[in-house]
Order: sequence, then C-alpha cells, then structure tokens
Amino acid sequence: MEVTTPEENAIRWQFNHSYTQLSPVLFSRIAPTPVALPRTVLLNMPLAKELGLHVGNENRDAITQMLSGNELPFGADPIAQAYMGHQFGYPNMLGDGRAILLGEHITPAGERMDIQLKGPGITQYSRSGDGRATLYSMLREYIISEAMHHLGISTTRSLAVVATGQPVYREQINEGAVLTRIAASHIRVGTFEFATRHLPKEEFRPFLDYVINRHYPELKESDNPALDLLYAVMQKQADLITQWMRVGFIHGVMNTDNMSIAGETIDYGPCAFLNSYDPATVFSSIDTKGRYAFGNQPFIAHWNIGVFASSLLPLMDDNIDKAIEKAKAAIQSFGNLFANKWLAMMRKKLGLTNELADDKKLADDLLIWMQTNKADYTNTFYHLSSDKLPDLALYQDEAFRLWHERWKQRQLENDLPLTEALSLMRGNNPVYIPRNHRVEASLQAATLGQDMSLVFELLDVVSEPYSYREELADYQEPPETEGGYKTFCGT
Ligand code: AMP
Ligand code: MG
Repeated sequence: MEVTTPEENAIRWQFNHSYTQLSPVLFSRIAPTPVALPRTVLLNMPLAKELGLHVGNENRDAITQMLSGNELPFGADPIAQAYMGHQFGYPNMLGDGRAILLGEHITPAGERMDIQLKGPGITQYSRSGDGRATLYSMLREYIISEAMHHLGISTTRSLAVVATGQPVYREQINEGAVLTRIAASHIRVGTFEFATRHLPKEEFRPFLDYVINRHYPELKESDNPALDLLYAVMQKQADLITQWMRVGFIHGVMNTDNMSIAGETIDYGPCAFLNSYDPATVFSSIDTKGRYAFGNQPFIAHWNIGVFASSLLPLMDDNIDKAIEKAKAAIQSFGNLFANKWLAMMRKKLGLTNELADDKKLADDLLIWMQTNKADYTNTFYHLSSDKLPDLALYQDEAFRLWHERWKQRQLENDLPLTEALSLMRGNNPVYIPRNHRVEASLQAATLGQDMSLVFELLDVVSEPYSYREELADYQEPPETEGGYKTFCGT
C-alpha cells in the first residue's frame, strides 16, 4: 500500500479524524486491499467541486489509484466501524464488512463529511464475506443516490465508481468495483445498539456527546441529551420516510444498521421505485413477508426508533423504570408525528395551501382509486399538476372523475390561486424517477456490454426530476409489465 505525500495531495483532501478519538472498541484500523486494474467509470464532478476537491484530467490516474484503494491518500486514517443491527427483526453483530472509512473531510463550507470506500476488500467485520462489491451494484447505488439527491431527499452521495478489473463471485461472475460514498456520518441506530452493549457507561456517554456535537449541536445544553436525541432523530426519520413516500421510494432493507442517525437515506441495496400504486409493493428477493413493503416503511421506522430508544435507556435516567417511561412517551408520539408530516406532504402533492378537515380523506381516496385501478403513482400526480389532465382512458373512469371534481371544488377553498397551487404541485411531484426497468437496462448495458451511454443518459434524466423535457417522454413511461422485477441485497 503506497501512501501519498503532502505534495501529492493533488485531490486536496482536508482530512480530520474525530471518530478515531472515540473508544477503540468502536472501530478497527484497516487498509483497503489493492486491486489489479482499476479504472474510473464514474466521477461526480459537481459533487467534487462542492467538496472542494481538485479533480481534473491531469490527475485522473491519481484519483483512480486513490478511489480504488490502491493508494492511501495523504492524511487518511482508514478504519472499519463496528456496529450491530436488527436484520428483519433479529439482532446481529455486523460492522463495516465491505467498507472502509478513509476519514472525515472538511468541505470549503466547513462541513465534516465521511469519505468511505465501499467494496475495498475484507475488514475485521467481513465474517465470511469477501469485502467486495460488484460494478453492477455500485453503479446502481450511484444512480439511485444521485437521483434521490436531485429529488431533494436527504441522502448519502456518490463521488465515484472505480471498476477493479477483478472478478467478484456471486451467483454469476461479475466485475468488482469500489464506490466512494460521502455521508454526514455513518453512525447508525445499529452503532448505538453496539455501543450500549460494548462500551462501559463512562465511554458510552462521550459517544452520545460526540453524536450530539456532530449532528445535533442544538442539543448540547440539553438537560436530558439522550432523550432529546431520541426526539430529534424521530423528527429526522419521520421527515425522511415522508419524503420517500412522496416519490414512491422503497428502501427495501430498513434494518436498524441501515438507519442513519443523521437522517440520510443510506445503504442502497434492494431499493426500487413504485410504478403503479400499491402499498404492498416489495421488490427485494429476500423480503418474502413484505416487512419492508412501500406502505410498511413508516411502521418499520417506528419499530427502529423503538430499538434506538432502548439502546439509549442507560443514559436517559439512572432509574430504569423512569427511563422506560420517558422512552415510551417519546416512541408513542411517533405515529402522530409521522401522520402530520405525511398529510402536510400530501397537501403539497395535491396543491392544497391551507388545511381543511377533509384533506386526509381526499388524499386517501385518490390513493385507493390508484390502487384499485393500478394507476402509476408518479404519473398520476404529474398529470394532476398539469393545467389540463391528458386524454387518457384511465381518467375517464367514473370514480376518478368524481374524485377530480371534489379536488377542483377543494381548490376553490385554497388561499392561493390555482396557478400557484399547480406550481407548488410541480415542485413536489417529479416528472422523472429512476424507473426500475430503466435502471436495469442501463446497468445491463454497462456491465455486460461495457457501454456506459445509458447510465450517463439516465443520470442526466434524474438530475432535473421536476422539469419536463419533451425529448425525454420515454423516461416517463412505466414498464409494459411489472411482473417479476426483483432486487437483491449485498450484491
Ligand atoms: P447490507 O445488507 O449491505 O446493509 O450489509 C449487511 C452487513 O453485511 C454489513 O455488516 C456489511 O458490511 C456486510 N456485508 C455485505 N456484503 C458483504 C461482503 N461482500 N463482504 C463482507 N461483508 C459484507
Ligand atoms: Mg448496511
């Protein structure tokens, strides 16, 4: 493993390491394993610029070497983080089994961001895994995380995908790749589950203080930081899931280790987007019982919050009964918290600018109609946001016409004129989402045909999801049949 010198810090990382100041129980030092023939297939130039990184053609090779894990950038202090997780409801010891944190980079705006390589070889937490990721799945994470970012949803970002030139053995042989992931941090609910079990109380408290300092500094002076952190994380999660529900995003594997304390969407595995509306929609091949189905996401977030709360109990009150009482009151408020945020979001999707008692029913009835008629979630809201509904047979349906009449009547009671309501709707109802069949086609072309053109095209489409572009009409179309689309974890 080569280590670059300060003069060679061509990419201009501004590393600073705060996580390694914490208890060493929380992480293990580990360097990436070099790969044979790295080549950069995607580099996110706008993101690099935001991060204050210098990436150009002249240092392309250096970047490829660094972001493949072949060279350790100057100032990096690579670690794998320890964490637990409730996977499909059951606790497991996990940790970064195929990810290495190079360090925290300080951006020109003064933000501290984790720089993580995903797929860089085995770590202390790899168990029987190979520590690698496939080019297919890293391109998939890049596309969907960037789409989420442009949809205006809190998410980790993708800086680069570097193919390794080495095989990765799954059901088929794939080429490997390393994704550079940028996150506010990689601290998860599962990190707290780990910390509460493995840190003595005198080290758990500084960990809590660290998280508050880093993500919720407004709670620094709190009388009960653990309890207030619980409430703050609940707010963030309720906001996040509301946004997922807005655009039809199904995370697919909402285990507690995949739930970020900072409230970012993290760990793009078997995630996918809804086409026709059905709350029972599941794409993940392993989610046979629909635990992580589209409509179940708010309940699972609530469940995960319960796990988070229980890990915080020792810091909430010295008296365990009192701690439980406080935690319970907090957890019980999640249902209402989410319901209010969801309704506020739905009002925007429907262009309602004031609050009337029947609004929830109006939204629910539309969803029921969409489910009954297998209407496309994105396109139905998109069409409602236009000045005039298109002449589609679907919208001639009697039940829809009645609903539409109610919606028009409701518009008359808004405190804003219709033109402004429609523009509110257009800002909340995307024209383009990364539809599963499009994502799939682009990934097949990239991995089997070594043709990146469809990936670039799709990345362009999802970069402006709210602006209609005539030439992109095809990207609005749902697949001809939905049948059988499956997504996979950990590929
Ligand atoms: P995920 O389903 O990606 O959230 O991963 C769950 C756990 O499995 C995490 O601890 C990962 O680090 C670990 N893991 C997934 N894939 C691999 C792999 N190929 N090698 C080692 N660990 C892995
Ligand atoms: Mg994970």
